[in-house]
Amino acid sequence: MNILTMLWKNLWGGSRTMRFPARPNVSARFRGLVRFDPELCTGCAICKFRCTSRAITYKAGKGEFYWSYDPGQCTFCGRCVEGCKAHALSQDSDTPPVYTTLGELKNSYTVARKAPVPRAVPLPAPAAQAAASAEAAKPVAGGPQ
Ligand code: SF4
Ligand code: SF4
Repeated sequence: MNILTMLWKNLWGGSRTMRFPARPNVSARFRGLVRFDPELCTGCAICKFRCTSRAITYKAGKGEFYWSYDPGQCTFCGRCVEGCKAHALSQDSDTPPVYTTLGELKNSYTVARKAPVPRAVPLPAPAAQAAASAEAAKPVAGGPQ
């Protein structure tokens, strides 16, 4: 494209920008603000390590942890959401709201650590066999007496 064509297009092509506070339309599967659900979060901190732009802060405390997200540093790549096995993170499918103050959209949470769920301890082999035999020896309801 020669310079005259470019100038002509710039002069007569109309505005390519939007006036504040208008927001552009987005396409399907658009990745917007990251949302956090403290109820589902296990405090594993994987999201913090996956976020190379340091938009997520995580600090472990005694019986609780601190988690925060600053959209001002977020590149909306979605790596934190993909890496969260607890499904505590999701992303808006719209553009972030317009903001004028630094850190205005930042969200911080202090989350109490959940008690670990006790695992079922398997019975030792002889005890398990005895339990199975006792179960098999029980009379069946409605069967021959
Ligand atoms: S949001 Fe997900 S990845 Fe991040 S600490 Fe919580 S459970 Fe772990
Ligand atoms: S979307 Fe990307 S940049 Fe934004 S918080 Fe998640 S990992 Fe960080």
